Amino acid sequence: MKMPTTWEGWASRVSVYVREGKKVLQLPRFPIRIEEFAESYSRQLFPGDPITMVEGQDFGGRFEGALIPNEAKDEWAIIYDNGHTSRGRINFTLAHEFGHYLVHRHLSGEPFYCSRKQMWDWDSDYARMEVEANSFAAFVLMPPDDFREQTKDFRRPTLRDFEILRDRYEVSLTAVVLNWLKTTKSRAMLVVGRDGFIDWSWGSAPLFTSGVYFQARQVTTPLPDTSLAALGPTAGVVEIQHPQGVWSEYEPVLESVVFAEYHEMTLSLLIYPPGGPGRRRDDLEDRLEDSADERY
Ligand SMILES: [Zn+2]
Repeated sequence: MKMPTTWEGWASRVSVYVREGKKVLQLPRFPIRIEEFAESYSRQLFPGDPITMVEGQDFGGRFEGALIPNEAKDEWAIIYDNGHTSRGRINFTLAHEFGHYLVHRHLSGEPFYCSRKQMWDWDSDYARMEVEANSFAAFVLMPPDDFREQTKDFRRPTLRDFEILRDRYEVSLTAVVLNWLKTTKSRAMLVVGRDGFIDWSWGSAPLFTSGVYFQARQVTTPLPDTSLAALGPTAGVVEIQHPQGVWSEYEPVLESVVFAEYHEMTLSLLIYPPGGPGRRRDDLEDRLEDSADERY
């Protein structure tokens, strides 16, 4: 049988395998747990160099996961960081490493060590294999047909809506929101805050093309003072409709927030009105440029 050569090819093949396998076994389709089939699947297809171990180790937070061959390179192990307890995060990491095994292991023959930072640099060119492994994981764990069906009525979703999907697919909240942002027609953005500053953000294509975006990491951008993310967990509110002047100078924004899914981080989902303010730049970007000017 001809083997796929791309992550898309592998993702749809694995997806069909899991769906049909669960039908035969009369099991519910979701959640899809990689450790339940990665070893047997790889033995069937690649008896010469299968995955023979899926195991947790304490990486002390340095890596989320790894794909490691033995010395003869005829067996592979998937190792995940068991220093934390989020099942969804582990499941996504396992799918990511499984993606490396199927799509990339021939390319380097070297071990893959994947840090959280690398895994979530979805937009960086140098990390093409990381992007592909994430795309593979998202496709396999949240198959497009089901994901579309589950989100078809999302007009102004909050993180509560995504928590339901997180539990359905057994992934992290970040993964499920990013998966939605990749395809939605809504103007929406996920902002990850840390210590009062924007750590990184990811906007939907319609938001970006309407001129709203900002570059995190290159300069420090504080979270807006009156945003839920900046108010902290004591605010006791998980969502609010902000007037203009909080996240955007020109537009009201619906913010829902979750604290500390990961250590000392906030996740804010921002929903902007449809249409947008034209091709005017967002005030956050202006502020960013102001602060950049101050630095130089
Ligand atoms: Zn990786």
